[in-house]
Amino acid sequence: MQDLSRRSAGFTDSVIRRMTRISMKYDAVNLSQGFPDFDPPALITRRLAEIADSGPHQYSITWGAQNFREALAEKLSRFMGRYIEPESEIVVTCGSTEAMMAAMLTVANPGDKVIVFSPFYENYGADAILSGAEPVYVALKPPDFCFDPGDLETAFKMRPKALILCNPSNPTGKVFTREELEVIAFLAEKYDSYIITDEVYEHIVYAPHKHIYISSIPGMADRTLSCSSLSKTYSITGWRLGYITAPACIIETARKVHDFLTVGAAAPLQEAAVSMLRIGDEYYERLLAEYTERRDIFVKGLDDLKIPHTDPEGAYYIMLDISEYGYESDLVFCEDMARLVGVGAVPGSSFFREPVNHLIRIHFAKKKDTLIEALNRLEGMRKKMTRNNTAE
Ligand code: GLN
Repeated sequence: MQDLSRRSAGFTDSVIRRMTRISMKYDAVNLSQGFPDFDPPALITRRLAEIADSGPHQYSITWGAQNFREALAEKLSRFMGRYIEPESEIVVTCGSTEAMMAAMLTVANPGDKVIVFSPFYENYGADAILSGAEPVYVALKPPDFCFDPGDLETAFKMRPKALILCNPSNPTGKVFTREELEVIAFLAEKYDSYIITDEVYEHIVYAPHKHIYISSIPGMADRTLSCSSLSKTYSITGWRLGYITAPACIIETARKVHDFLTVGAAAPLQEAAVSMLRIGDEYYERLLAEYTERRDIFVKGLDDLKIPHTDPEGAYYIMLDISEYGYESDLVFCEDMARLVGVGAVPGSSFFREPVNHLIRIHFAKKKDTLIEALNRLEGMRKKMTRNNTAE
């Protein structure tokens, strides 16, 4: 038999999703793969029940149902601060995972360079492999995860086709400041690069931090492919509804890529989400208030247990410093932690390009009771993990 593709040989499985399977095996509280254990708003689930009878059940227009795009364009125009044209500036995708892949395939030729900040969400590595692009990594340095503008310019001097920007950032919880975005924008313009964003946590940004769409920085709307999804904002990660918004001349190509990748996002789910996209600002305020409460409970719990951690400015991830346990492998640490402590986490090394193995990522998109149960289990961590490691 001939070998399978060289492209796929470069992949490992997703460590995030592997940690979910390991958590299930040990009946651990799964704080690895980031998704909520609470229900989506009743508005959207009731609407979905009606649609089971009324339809639609057949394909929507490949780049997104008309009413979905119109509702989405209204919402985006409101939050992004510029008019988004539903006919020509949006393509609806199967989650932002497809949006990012389609954006990369729209922009990059095999061999092109693409700047990726490290640590980064693991899909960007796979996106680069699949599109044939070569990632150029720029470090976001712990503990505050700022980049060195000199390092960034060095990367831009390699004439990248695009820069990938995850803001608010997974896994660090960093929210890029206006000054940082202006540095990126200046260099993107100077070196004529596109920007591909992943902004799925756009509505989960803790005060006093603010989410600024890089497409709103002067000059950037023309060169930005803004990718996001409904998953995190409406607690429907399983619905796989995402989108790219960009100038019409870019979307024209992105639609073709999307069409041949997946034909379209699920028609009944698009229909069910329309009313949600039209909801007022109070929904987003409540969402943030609830996430702020979850973050506060979790951060306080970790502080009480004297577990060193990062301070999330946005998104719902927190990184714990596990230096004190002396593990060489953070993957082994996470496996032991799921088994012995009963809490699932993701090893930080799966996000970092640099040899970092003293951080693990956990998330707090969970009900209060789940978070308290996790904190109760974490209380035993120091004893169980230290003993385990020194015994071996
Ligand atoms: N974005 C989520 C995370 O980082 C979920 C990833 C996934 O499995 N799609 O955990």
